[in-house]
Parts: sequence; C-alpha cells; structure tokens
Amino acid sequence: MIKAIKGAKDLFYEGITPWHELEETVRNVFENFNYSEIRTPVFEETRLFSRSIGEETDIVSKEMYTFTDKSGLSITLRPEMTASVVRAFIEHSLGKKFNLNKLYYISPMFRQERPQAGRLRQFHQFGAEAIGSGSPVLDVEMIILANEILQTLGLKNLSVKINSLGTPAERENYREILREYLKPNFTNLSETSKIRFEKNVLRIFDSKDERDQAIVEEAPKLLDYLGEESLSLFEEVKTLLKEAGVKFEIDSKLVRGLDYYTHTTFEIISGSVGSQNALCGGGRYDLLAEQLGGTATPGVGFAAGMERILLACKNEGIELGKQGNVKLYIIRLEKELKNKAFELALFFRKKGIKTELDYLNRSVKAQMREANRISAEYALILGGEEFQRNEVVLKNMTDGSQQNVSLANPEVVLTKISK
Ligand code: AMP
Repeated sequence: MIKAIKGAKDLFYEGITPWHELEETVRNVFENFNYSEIRTPVFEETRLFSRSIGEETDIVSKEMYTFTDKSGLSITLRPEMTASVVRAFIEHSLGKKFNLNKLYYISPMFRQERPQAGRLRQFHQFGAEAIGSGSPVLDVEMIILANEILQTLGLKNLSVKINSLGTPAERENYREILREYLKPNFTNLSETSKIRFEKNVLRIFDSKDERDQAIVEEAPKLLDYLGEESLSLFEEVKTLLKEAGVKFEIDSKLVRGLDYYTHTTFEIISGSVGSQNALCGGGRYDLLAEQLGGTATPGVGFAAGMERILLACKNEGIELGKQGNVKLYIIRLEKELKNKAFELALFFRKKGIKTELDYLNRSVKAQMREANRISAEYALILGGEEFQRNEVVLKNMTDGSQQNVSLANPEVVLTKISK
C-alpha cells in the first residue's frame, strides 16, 4: 500500500473543520489590521533560501526538500515564507507601489525534520510581513496581531517573549564574547553545540541538552552589548507593548534559527502543548531585501504554526469548527421518484439549505436511518398518497411532529424549516 509521506498529513471530515474556523479567524484579524493576502509558489530556486535563511542554519543545512529539475535548476520546497515574500516584493517592485506593504499568507511549508507531536514535514503557517518601515510600532503591531489571533481563538495559556539581536556588527562582536565565555567549557558541550560553536554559536542557546543549558545559563547577554541605537529601538518596543497592555518577558536567549533577523525578535509560547511550545515567532529583518538584491528596505514579520495552534486549542478544550448538521434530508418512498427527489434537493440547496438525499437506492427504512444517523433536522418525505395530491410530508426529526405541505409551493417548506 502506498502511504502518505511520514510527517505529512491528510485532513478530512472532522479533521478539517477546525482548520476552516482557524483560517477564517486569521483572515478576519488580518483584514481588520489592513493586511492583504499574498500567495507565492510552493517552490523557489534553492539559492533564495540559502542566501536569506543562512547556509549554517538547521533549515538550510539539514531540513530542506531540494531537488534538481529537468533543466538542472536546484529547486526547494519552501521551508518558510519570508524569503519568498521579500523575493516577490523585489521582483514586482512593490516598494514603488506602496511605501509600506502589509502582506499576509496562509500556506503549507516543508522541512525534513524528525516528526513528532507539533513537528511535521509538511506543516502550515499563517504569518504577516510589513515591508517598508523601520518603525518599532510595526514590531509591536506584529506581536499584537499574532496575540490577537490566538486570543480570538480563545487560547489562554500564552506568554510573549521578546529580545533584540541588534545589528550584524553588534552580533558579530557578541559572538566572539560568547565564544570566549564558552571556550573553557568546550569539552562539556554536546556534540551539536560543539559544531554550532564554530558555525552558528548563538544557536547553542536553543539546545535542549541540559548540560548545554546549564553552561549558557550564566553566559553574557547580547542585550548588554548592544549599541545606543539598538537599545533605544528595543526600549521603544517595550514601551509600546506596555502601553498596549501586552504582557511580555525579555528572553536574552531568544536568538531564533534564521540568520536574517536584526533588532527585535519575539515568540509566543503556549503552556498547553508539549516540548514544541512555540506557537509563533518573528522579528525584524532590515537587511534582507538588500541581501536578496533589492534596494535596502526594512521589514518585520512573524509566522505561526497552525498545527501547534490547533493542538493548543484542543488541549485547552477549545472546540473549533463545529459544523452545522444537515438541515433537510429528502426521503423518497417510491424508487421512481428519485429524479424528483434530486430536483427538490437542488431547489433547497440553491436556497442555501444544507440538503442531503439517498444516492444508493436505499430502502425507505434505510433512508430514515441515514437521516437520523447524520442528525438531519428535518426530513421531507416524498411519495405515496400525499404525492398524488401534490403534497409532501415534512417531519421534524427532533420532536417527531409531521405536517403536510403543498408541493406547488416549496417556498412554504423554506419558511417552516428556517424558523
Ligand atoms: P520558524 O519559521 O521556524 O520560526 O517557525 C515559526 C512557527 O512555525 C513555529 O513557532 C512553529 O509553530 C511552526 N513550525 C516550525 N516548524 C514546524 C514543523 N516542523 N512542524 C510544525 N510546525 C512548525
């Protein structure tokens, strides 16, 4: 038997309805904040990601789905969206269209990670990017946007963590300071952290290894090595968050796994899911557009993992996407009335009534059983003497009451079931 790829999921029936409510909530909040949807191809030239996310990051070095197409071009299924959005921003000169481009997306992403709860190989993110302004108001807007969506869904157990990564020069200087601090403990670091020590030393903060964590606990903090300008931007973010009533913690270990960040970074963590507890993450990327060949344009954004959000909702007892039952089930008594039943079903469907009927030539008893099984609210019984009199029987499936209604005017049925 051919199965779906490990870490990629099929979604159907009651598995898909929470997604619909989540997507609708996401769209509503984004629209209220005046963000406009962007859709980009699921695949891009590989160098887009290696150049933006960074060669030494886990995503680029280990997790990308990369293949060569028949023309010999190296192509990658997108592991995240910011690079694609900035590529589209440059390619279509969006900076000339609007000074500030506020864009959002809801899209599948692909990373070859070890699948576990909240960690998949095809997963879905919604997110936003605001490109064209370095104002810290937008950093804060991103945090509020993400928070607003999570709170609208009803999530409670949330905490916002923020940090500043400063400028690349400040970070480079700090990397050296961190390496100096770690050197005496180098032999005690985990194997992964030993590799990161050279290649991407900040990522040692992300290590789940307890010994690594103990070692970095006392490490010097990047925030203590930022220059005046970076610090004042960070101060403004904190002030604006306080003014907006958003509770947050400063987490100096929040370095995030992608190289393109500058200044503000943030994550929203849920206490209701397991170890994969970051529901969303984002930050500012003021140098990315230039790095990808465009004019220097500041930007800020975030991405949220939809599978993790749905898991958090489930664990907090939030039922999303409760579906309405079938309103009307058309039961035909005589088999020759099947076309008439179909015609009637179409009439009600076009009027916006969720209507079902039998397609399997079932007996009357079986049709009634089916109407009950799917919890239809009403049954419309077509046939027998009533049909001869051009009438149908409308049965209320909840209380069992029945009434005859003239078929000459099916609109009457509409008024009766719409109450
Ligand atoms: P990132 O792009 O790595 O900053 O991730 C942003 C958010 O996407 C995370 O906070 C997660 O909620 C979600 N996410 C990232 N990787 C995965 C994955 N492999 N499976 C499910 N969700 C993910």
